[in-house]
Amino acid sequence: MIINIPTSQQKRLVIIGGGFAGLTLAQKLAKSDLQIVLLDKNNYHQFQPLFYQVAMAGLEPSSISFPLRKTFQNSKNVFIRVTEVEEVDTQKNEIHTSIGSLAYDYLVLAIGADTNFFGNERLAEKTIPMKSVSEALFLRNAILEDYEKALSTANYDDRQGLIDIVIVGGGPTGVEVAGALAEMKKYVLPKDYRELDCDEVDIHLLQGSDCLLKGMSSEASESAYKFLTDLGVDVKLNVRVTDYDGEYVHTKDGTKIRADKVIWAAGITGNKIKGLPKESMTWGNRILVNRFNQIKGFENIYAIGDIAFMTEEAYPQGHPQVAQVAIQQAKKLGKNLPKIIQDKTPKPFSYNDLGSMATIGRHRAVVDLPKWKFQGFFAWMIWLGVHLFQLIGVKNRLFVFINWLWNYLTYDQSLRLIIRPKVKKETSLENSKAQN
Ligand SMILES: Cc1cc2nc3c(=O)[nH]c(=O)nc-3n(C[C@H](O)[C@H](O)[C@H](O)COP(=O)(O)OP(=O)(O)OC[C@H]3O[C@@H](n4cnc5c(N)ncnc54)[C@H](O)[C@@H]3O)c2cc1C
Repeated sequence: MIINIPTSQQKRLVIIGGGFAGLTLAQKLAKSDLQIVLLDKNNYHQFQPLFYQVAMAGLEPSSISFPLRKTFQNSKNVFIRVTEVEEVDTQKNEIHTSIGSLAYDYLVLAIGADTNFFGNERLAEKTIPMKSVSEALFLRNAILEDYEKALSTANYDDRQGLIDIVIVGGGPTGVEVAGALAEMKKYVLPKDYRELDCDEVDIHLLQGSDCLLKGMSSEASESAYKFLTDLGVDVKLNVRVTDYDGEYVHTKDGTKIRADKVIWAAGITGNKIKGLPKESMTWGNRILVNRFNQIKGFENIYAIGDIAFMTEEAYPQGHPQVAQVAIQQAKKLGKNLPKIIQDKTPKPFSYNDLGSMATIGRHRAVVDLPKWKFQGFFAWMIWLGVHLFQLIGVKNRLFVFINWLWNYLTYDQSLRLIIRPKVKKETSLENSKAQN
């Protein structure tokens, strides 16, 4: 079956992925002389840096998600299809998806990355990742359900399993989740779960290397460590998790930590798509591209964002997998592609590092700018401003701002709802059939 897209005199650019990279590129070329087909398995863009606030019941999923169609309501040459792309046929210039095939003149892969469990199937099955809005919601439900269960659990060990949490990975995600959980323990649990002894709640953050926030400055990682330990988080460095059996986390040094919930934030790997030769791939399942984002071995196929692996003098190991790289590569390709099509000379991409930051609860954040590093309250204000500004959609910005203001003034969040999908109960008819 062929995906139904109107035929046109325009050359067709197919973009796979409506994340930071794909969405920015489609916006940039929306008024160009190309027919643009944007494909994503979801009908919305997800603002990943605030997933942890959804998981901690601080924000609604709708505040950090934005419908793709809304962005292109007035762009007549942009066509959106919600589907999972399975394979690229580079010989026929076609892609194969769950709803059919589609031919392209130019193809851009902006498919991002997923959680890396390093081949450990048990960790993949038993731990909770946070790489999509639905996973963040799952985590929110799991945390709240376990607090509810803990209220009625008399046995100390069983109760510990329900209320203790282990976070694996001391990068920005692990650090931000640990900070938010510690604040929940401090401000929310004593009010909502009065019968629980909050001192019994343990939050463990396990990091495989010798510092938190690797990739940021030593000042940032030391401050993050101090902020978290001040909040009561048990931070352990140089600890490698080897297994999790659903009850105990096992580490390489033989330690066992009891917890019914383990959050896995220990790495990412590129999303897979069939059809590219192995010469075009490199470590981390990333796709090798040149400085114009052209995939190695192809002239009309490009990769941008987390999935792309490009080296330049200052980045011999590739760029960091962060939103700024994705956005900047998309903007550059948006300028280069029309030039390439018109046989003009494109300009090579060069990453302009605007800095990095992470927040660790109220009034605490760390910010590394190229020429200035700072931590604490001012850093926190900057973090809030930057994240608010980066969100897509005025309504989302307004809702997030109001939520943050409310949380700040009341030391509370009002979104602690456990929303589960409906489970079909056996009807009496089915019961009697089963008995016969
Ligand atoms: C929890 C978390 C916190 C983060 N915090 C920060 C931060 O504070 N600052 C920062 O700079 N970066 C942060 N990042 C990283 C940042 O979000 C990524 O670098 C950025 O999203 C990469 O953009 P992208 O467009 O390459 O990929 P993505 O944004 O991941 O988009 C990929 C898109 O492709 C779609 N897709 C994938 N495979 C297919 C397929 N086969 N078919 C159809 N569609 C497909 C997906 O649905 C998705 O919409 C964070 C990431 C996470 C997970």
